[in-house]
Amino acid sequence: MTSATTNKVASDSVHQGRGVERIIHGQAVMDGAGVKINRVLTQALQRRLDPFLMLDAFGSDKANDYIAGFPSHPHRGFETVSYMLEGRMRHKDSAGNEGLLTSGGVQWMTAGRGVIHSEMPEQEAGVMEGFQLWLNLPARDKMRAPWYRDFNGADVPVFTTDAGVGVRVIAGASHGVVGAVQREVTEPIYIDIDLPAGATFKQQLPPGHNAFIYTYRGAVSVGDKSVPEKSMAILANAADADGVTLHAAQASRVILIAGAPLNEPIVQYGPFVMNTQAEIVQAVEDFRAGKLGEEAHR
Ligand code: MN
Repeated sequence: MTSATTNKVASDSVHQGRGVERIIHGQAVMDGAGVKINRVLTQALQRRLDPFLMLDAFGSDKANDYIAGFPSHPHRGFETVSYMLEGRMRHKDSAGNEGLLTSGGVQWMTAGRGVIHSEMPEQEAGVMEGFQLWLNLPARDKMRAPWYRDFNGADVPVFTTDAGVGVRVIAGASHGVVGAVQREVTEPIYIDIDLPAGATFKQQLPPGHNAFIYTYRGAVSVGDKSVPEKSMAILANAADADGVTLHAAQASRVILIAGAPLNEPIVQYGPFVMNTQAEIVQAVEDFRAGKLGEEAHR
């Protein structure tokens, strides 16, 4: 398929699969300057799904649903991971980074102590579909320098299992294939799984990781539970479970996300996520004083 395609795959064996704890359908919200979003991982789930703070799914062929984009806005204290299934979105930030996120591409931004950026559609018609995930930073890294990287679709490692399941490995590893981004502490796993009808897919997961899947096409089953289209399943943590087994009766597409919990206080005020209220007050003051993001220029 691409230069990132890997042919030799060490199958993940799963002896005891996790079950489904809960199915979540998400909330329809407007964000940015008026972009229609399904907020799948809401603030109420931040503790349960630590280290993940938010998952937005967007998908529309109506320009009015996305054309306003996300004009200039700040972030501090966490990482944003944007994954574009279809469409074109331009990113510009205060650290001098600029990139065009296109179909299949991933943009990973570590806001750290502060970034001001814009995320604007570079299309006036057609389909725009994808996800934005917010991944928390450990307390010790919240004020680190910002970091940013764009991966074209061809730079995201992919593989196909014997059962014909196509997998894109955005973060962590799957079946021995190492993904585009690795992170210490939160050890995120983020894979996009394309299952043909009748296929089964197994993914190893550390027992301590919080994990969930989101079905964006078709429907998959986990044990005896069905995870229908446009819904998320929180996967139960169990000390004796070593992964998860997905089965697709029909052709389906799913993202699977897992990470090691930080177990630190979470205080969010809009685009700032810190550990204490005082740190939030500081973030707002720094933003108002024009200090947020300026350090990146030095
Ligand atoms: Mn943003």
